[in-house]
Amino acid sequence: MFKLYRNYPVKSILQGISSSTSDAERFMFENILLAQTLGLMIFLASLLSVPLGIMWNITTSNIITELIVMIISSGSLYFTAQTKLGERLKRHIMSAFIFLAILTTYITFHEQLQILIWMILIILLLNTALSHSLITIYYLGAVAIIVITTTVVYNPTTNVTLDETFYIAFVAIFLFIIAIIIVINLTYRYIISQMTERFIDISLQKDEITALYEEVTATEEELREQNETITDLYDQLQANEEELRDQYEQLEISNESLILHQERLNFLAYKDTLTGLPNRKMILEQLDILANIQGDDHDQFALVFIDLDNFKNVNDTMGHSVGDELLVQISERMTKMIHKIDLLGRLGGDEFALLIRRNISEESLMAYLQRIHDSLQEPFKLANYQVNSGASFGVAIWPLDGKSSEDLLTAADTAMYKAKESGKNEIQFFRESMKQAILERIEMEYALIKAMENKEFYLEYQPLIDTATKKTAGFEALLRWQSPAYGRVPPLKFIPLAEDLGLIYDLGLRVIREVCKKIIELADCCESEKFIAINVSPLQFKNPDFLKDVQKILQETGVNPSYIEFEITESVFIDNIKETVYLLESIKHLGIHIAIDDFGTGYSSLNYILDLPIDTLKIDKSFSDKITSTNPKINVISGIISLAHSLGMKVVSEGIENEYQVNYLENNNCDIIQGYYFSKPLSEADMKKFLK
Ligand code: C2E
Ligand code: CA
Ligand code: CA
Repeated sequence: MFKLYRNYPVKSILQGISSSTSDAERFMFENILLAQTLGLMIFLASLLSVPLGIMWNITTSNIITELIVMIISSGSLYFTAQTKLGERLKRHIMSAFIFLAILTTYITFHEQLQILIWMILIILLLNTALSHSLITIYYLGAVAIIVITTTVVYNPTTNVTLDETFYIAFVAIFLFIIAIIIVINLTYRYIISQMTERFIDISLQKDEITALYEEVTATEEELREQNETITDLYDQLQANEEELRDQYEQLEISNESLILHQERLNFLAYKDTLTGLPNRKMILEQLDILANIQGDDHDQFALVFIDLDNFKNVNDTMGHSVGDELLVQISERMTKMIHKIDLLGRLGGDEFALLIRRNISEESLMAYLQRIHDSLQEPFKLANYQVNSGASFGVAIWPLDGKSSEDLLTAADTAMYKAKESGKNEIQFFRESMKQAILERIEMEYALIKAMENKEFYLEYQPLIDTATKKTAGFEALLRWQSPAYGRVPPLKFIPLAEDLGLIYDLGLRVIREVCKKIIELADCCESEKFIAINVSPLQFKNPDFLKDVQKILQETGVNPSYIEFEITESVFIDNIKETVYLLESIKHLGIHIAIDDFGTGYSSLNYILDLPIDTLKIDKSFSDKITSTNPKINVISGIISLAHSLGMKVVSEGIENEYQVNYLENNNCDIIQGYYFSKPLSEADMKKFLK
């Protein structure tokens, strides 16, 4: 402790006292520090007393005595504090020296130093207060009493004489005070020692606790470090887990899209995209599967080929979107009707197939199919239209009518074809004899292809009679096929076939070229320029080359286009009205006239009559047939004629066979009449005769 004191400046010691040293150390420090401070002050005071003594005319011997006492006091004070004597003894000795120094000083400078003494006392008191040491207070108290009494006793101004009694009383009081001080001091000492012991105990415990605390702290730190490591690891794991989860999710997404793709592929491969029904491929595969597993001839299953009767008409006149809507509704209606074991599919276009996967008698099958068939008779309510459909059913039974899927399908198709032939809207079971019909169709297709090469086609011309002049206004060119095998084939039979086979475009161009030549020929030979109407199939009309090819023919033949009229049906207007208007206008621009053929059989919308550049309206035979004396609705015809006239169109009525019709049409201002009443279609030669 002393070492600490000696080796360090006061400032750091004071800092040390207040901060780092233990309470026990501080307690001792304070006292020693106080003692040594006092010693130092006394030493300084003694140095000060020399000039003061000279100044105040004090005798040299007195000053020297004072100086010596002061130096001894301060030196003793300083060194006593450093000795290894007991704490208590050290304090007594030190107090005694202080006392001695003060007393000597007072005796020397009694009068003048009275104030100085009080000042020292105040400094000491301040010091004491700072040191918190009770013991110093007692000493100081004693010093105070002594100073006060001696002041009173020796003060020359009080004139008090000293006698023996006073000395005895003084010494007695002094001893008494000392005794009290010693007693208090001992008690205090005892209390302090007890406290110190406990204090040391506490300190030791505290040290132990501190050690423990440090240990705990160290452990805690270690734990924290471990915890951090673990947290790091955990974070890493979590990151990995997250990555894994991400990857897993990614995988799941890919998997899902794969499944979706697969489903979509399956759907595309086996389902019809429009109706969602199984497609041709799936029906055929199912047929194959059934054909392979049905080993026993007693087990049967049936295939029904269903073809819509009116579909082409709907598609042609109302457009493909309406056609699609109808197909969807038909498939929905049939799906509701069929047995849950059976399989309904769409083969394509307006063809459906129903696979009956049950052993069922022909009678119950017929009854079942009749119900489905009848349900299709009910009108279909589409978004903008109400449509009547109806269908023809062809039935083939395994294994009687075919053992493979292809054979069975062909048989059902054949039966359906037969149903169509015998007036549509029927259910036909396959019979061996029907195969002939199919063969015939195939043969005819072949013959038609040959006919194109062999130039078996020619034209007939049916006169068109002007009602005003009763003269021939023109002709309608009608195509004929004279087949070596079949003889004369009606156009209603071979033209759809030519359309199916894609032959119609070339065939149609041939007709146009032929007609152009005929117009020129008529002008040359008969000096009568007549217009000739040409039937143009929608498939021709919609061919992108049509306009260019027609133009080419016009140039080649040098015909006056105003003698040509194209007869087109309403179906060409439906699909792409913008394109059609452009095409019609381009054709009109060439100088060719446009007529609407078969008006009244199709959709007969006023819209396109109003909007399209049409020159002639041709009222269909089915309408002309309504001109009878008994028909109350006959005025519809005159209405149509007036309407067409009000739109600046000419009106042609076709299929006129009797006088009543002629009269009615004449009376109602129909412009042109065509029909057997005047003439059947004529050969070239007959046409010339007719003109003459
Ligand atoms: P279409 O354009 O309606 O032709 C009129 C049809 O009615 C002709 O039948 C004609 O012979 C027939 N006809 C005329 N007057 C009467 C009558 O008073 N009574 C009866 N019962 N029938 C009459 P055809 O020649 O058999 O032609 C049938 C259809 O074939 C034509 O109907 C037309 O759509 C088509 N067609 C004819 N020639 C051509 C052609 O060169 N190109 C194209 N694309 N189609 C043609
Ligand atoms: Ca026609
Ligand atoms: Ca017609």
